[in-house]
Order: sequence, then C-alpha cells, then structure tokens
Amino acid sequence: MIEFQHVSKIYKGGKVAVDDIHLSFEKGEFICFIGTSGSGKTTSMRMINRMTEPTKGKILIDGQDIQKMNAVELRRKIGYVIQSIGLMPHMTIRENITLVQKLLKIDQEKRNQTAEKMIDLVELPREMLDRYPSELSGGQQQRIGVVRALAADQDIILMDEPFGALDPITRDSLQDLVKDLQERLGKTIVFVTHDMDEALKLASRIAIMSEGKVVQFDTPENILKHPANQFVEELLGEDRLLQAKPDTTRVNEVMLNTAITITTEKSLQEALRLMREKRVDTLLVTDNQNILKGFVDIEAINKNRGLTSSVGDILQTDVFYVQESAFLRNTLQRILKRGLKYVPVVDINKKVVGIITRASLVDIVYDVVFGEEETLTDAVEAFNPDEIKEV
Ligand code: ADP
Ligand code: MG
Repeated sequence: MIEFQHVSKIYKGGKVAVDDIHLSFEKGEFICFIGTSGSGKTTSMRMINRMTEPTKGKILIDGQDIQKMNAVELRRKIGYVIQSIGLMPHMTIRENITLVQKLLKIDQEKRNQTAEKMIDLVELPREMLDRYPSELSGGQQQRIGVVRALAADQDIILMDEPFGALDPITRDSLQDLVKDLQERLGKTIVFVTHDMDEALKLASRIAIMSEGKVVQFDTPENILKHPANQFVEELLGEDRLLQAKPDTTRVNEVMLNTAITITTEKSLQEALRLMREKRVDTLLVTDNQNILKGFVDIEAINKNRGLTSSVGDILQTDVFYVQESAFLRNTLQRILKRGLKYVPVVDINKKVVGIITRASLVDIVYDVVFGEEETLTDAVEAFNPDEIKEV
C-alpha cells in the first residue's frame, strides 16, 4: 500500500537525511520508524504526504506515484498527529474532532455522528463534546488529538512521536487506545518514535534507522531474535535480548538427566526399594527399550502389595510428558498449569531422556522468562503440591 522505492532526501547544504530507503508497507500495518535523533525518521515519514519532497526515488501509495498527485488532496487523505496536540483552543471538542471533515465539506449531521462515535471510542462522556480543550486534562486532550486523526476516515495516519511529552501512565493507556483503534478500524499507521518499548508494543513491523539508512526492517519478534548488527543490539539493549532468548530454549537444554525409572516386569518390592534409596514417592515406568509406559506411586504400591507381583500390573498410564525438542516457552505454561511435580522428557520414540522438576522450573521462571509474568504468576499460584495425584 505504501512503497518507498530507493528514496533519498538531501537537504540544501548537502545533508543526506535519508539515504536510499527501499520499503513497502501493507494495508492495515502498524509501522514504527525508530532510531537515534537525526537518523531521518521524521524526514522519511513526512515524505509520505509530501510535506517533504524526496530528492531521489519514488513513493507509491496503492501503486500510484504520489509525485503525480495533487499535494493538497494527498494530504487530506492522510491523517497526521504530532507531539503538541494541536487542538484549536477556541473550538469545542466537537469542532476539533470534525475539523478535517468540515474542510472536506461533510455535512453537519454526519459530523455530529462522527463526533459521538469517536468520543464513545475513547470512552469519554458525550457531554465533553461541547467543552473547550482547556477544560480537559492533558491526557484527555491527547485522546481527542488521536481520534481527530481517525475521524476523517483517512486510511493512512502518520504519527510523529505523538506521546513523547506524556507521563508514562497516560502514554501507556494512549498506546493501548491507538493500537486498539488501529486494529478495529483497519487503519495503516506510520509512527515515529525513539522509544523501543513503544515500538515493540505497537508495531507490526519496525524500520530501524541509522544515519539515514534503514538497517533492519522486520517484525518485533524477528528483530529481537535476530538483530541485524551491533547497532540494533545496542538499541535493543541487553535486557530485552535476554528476555527474548527463552523463545529458542528447548526442553532438553534445561532438563535434568536423572529421571528415576523402573521397568514393567520388576516386582513391587523392588520398586519400593528403589523409592527408598532415591528418596522419591513415584517412579517412571518404562519397557526394556526405555520407552515410557506410565508411572507408579507409593500409594498404589501400598494398596496392591501382596495382590500383584509386577510394576506393569499397577502402573498408571495417563502420564503427561514433553518432547525434548519442544520449545520450553510453549510447554512451560502447560506444565505449570497442570501443577505437576515433575514431567518426564522423551525423545521422538518416546524413550525417557530426562526429567523437568518443579524446582528447576521455578528457577527457569524467575531467571529466564519475562514478559508473561502475570500468567506465569497465576500458574505458579494455582499450583498446589498437596493436590498432586498425577506422576
Ligand atoms: P529524526 O526525526 O530521526 O530525528 P530528521 O528526519 O528530523 O531526524 O532529520 C534527519 C537529518 O536531517 C538531521 O541531521 C537533521 O538535522 C537534518 N534535517 C532535518 N530537517 C532539515 C532541514 N529542513 N534542512 C536541513 N537539514 C535538515
Ligand atoms: Mg523526528
């Protein structure tokens, strides 16, 4: 939908602000330009609505060269939000929200409908429509600034560090608002920021800029997993790279190799002896090829002593296990939610290769896994060792 074809901008005096960028954005994407100050973010963004003209290259919107469009018309099709909110102090909130619509000569009734829809969207009372900006808090005013950009029904919205001046709590709630509205209304947003947390939270793809060049253009996940160079690594910072790491940790990297197993034909006497020796109250049961068959616990042995002769007769087969090659991140929550004390790890043939214990999981949760703290905390809290029956 928006395409930069080898675009450069050289300001008078020779400053190369943007150096041969070649990018394309899909409809409905949330694109963030991020980079250090002076890296060319604002210049890149402003070329999309021709507030700045490129020196070289072409920009296409829906396949059309914007150079060949009327600049004023182009600008009316593209919303623009800047850091200073830019609400008109002498106009009511209603008039502010529908300013662009008025310029587009949309009738009063339609404009009123839009104003009401927009104020509902940002969850402010409708009475507020007839107040003036100075009667609203800074955060409320910026909310109005955001919906004003959305009200005109433009498909593309440019935002240049719109929340830079806000306190962290207001900023956080406006980020949620913008992301939510963008998804619900299907807008394409191009957003400039120098705040990596903001970019990672909002963007479908991030264009990382340095000295006029795009050094990486990818999804937040891929950027975290595969930073293109040292500059990107530094921009991300060590903490974020560490946080991203568990994505690729596999079960066999954290498991213990000390699973205590017994084979099916062994007697209950032998099982008891092994439990006492290893100080455990359950044993994994395998066949002679070390393939997992189930488990026995001390209760079952006590109940059946004297009646049966072998472990195979009383084993419980509903054992939960994980594959050694599975990503830890994908299995961790399942393991914690089930409240298991330990989980056998098997290879592709279901042979027991190790074990993950609850104790080692807790270490992993605290040491490596971030970002899903709440759900993990819930899972850990839901865990009650007294209720464990399985394994
Ligand atoms: P960013 O938004 O990433 O901070 P800009 O796109 O605003 O960067 O600026 C990129 C470079 O171009 C900077 O070195 C800046 O000083 C320079 N620049 C920006 N606007 C002009 C201008 N109108 N004339 C000359 N140089 C400019
Ligand atoms: Mg800028």
